Amino acid sequence: MVTESTISPAKQQNSPKLSQLNWTHSFLVVSLHAGGLLGLWFWPRPVDLVLFLGLYLATTFAIGIGYHRLLTHRGFVSPRWLRRLLAWMGAAALQGGPARWAAIHRRHHQMADKHGDPHSPLMGFLHAHVGWVMTRDAKEGSDYREIVPDVSGSDPWLRVLDYKVLFVMPWVLTALFCFAVAGWRGVLWGTVLRTLTLWHLTWCINSVCHVLGKRPNMTRDESRNVWWLGLLTLGEGWHNNHHARPAAAVHGWRWYQIDVSGYVIRLLARLGLIRNVVREPQI
Ligand SMILES: [Zn+2]
Ligand SMILES: [Zn+2]
Repeated sequence: MVTESTISPAKQQNSPKLSQLNWTHSFLVVSLHAGGLLGLWFWPRPVDLVLFLGLYLATTFAIGIGYHRLLTHRGFVSPRWLRRLLAWMGAAALQGGPARWAAIHRRHHQMADKHGDPHSPLMGFLHAHVGWVMTRDAKEGSDYREIVPDVSGSDPWLRVLDYKVLFVMPWVLTALFCFAVAGWRGVLWGTVLRTLTLWHLTWCINSVCHVLGKRPNMTRDESRNVWWLGLLTLGEGWHNNHHARPAAAVHGWRWYQIDVSGYVIRLLARLGLIRNVVREPQI
């Protein structure tokens, strides 16, 4: 018989009790996956594909450039209007408010693949991929805006996104936009399936990029570069580079490491729209 004291912390993490569930996130994850199955019956028309691709690119850039490289790692300095735009488009990816996202991700970097990492595959691949989203975070119930006070500062346009469940507002607006343009099938492809696609690709950075791929930099964790995730996430797949130099705004360090978000950041800097870009190592 297995007594509670013989179950490892990792095992406990893999088998969450009902009280450990984050009900809001679990509901969203289950219902969106169920809704996404409708895609098997309702194939996309050209307008649906345009909505899917356009909103996929907008929200992927907003998560990678906005939530991750700007707000979490402060890889460059941005004007307020661009910061707000990136934060609202990032929230339209339905990955929580910017302060919560940044607080959890900073903890990942501090404790990467050690006890306290919110989503290490050492606790199980499925936990690193989606399980951690559906369970309560160690800081759940806290005001994440106070934990990472630099992320949203006193800007009400950012702070509102971390107030209770208001992070869903921009996502609901994208759904309404899709409905206005292309009806329910537009919502299915431009909102539901687009969100699911980016969810799984973002989650792959936490799961696949800590298990498979190359480790050119000897970091003190299991982070890896995965070229195909680099392409699909517009640059986030160069995760071993990123762990080696977290603040660097560009994650692709060699010419063949395609990092489209990095190219956009360089372009914005060249246009004078952003400044103080944290440089990657010259190798
Ligand atoms: Zn990582
Ligand atoms: Zn990071």
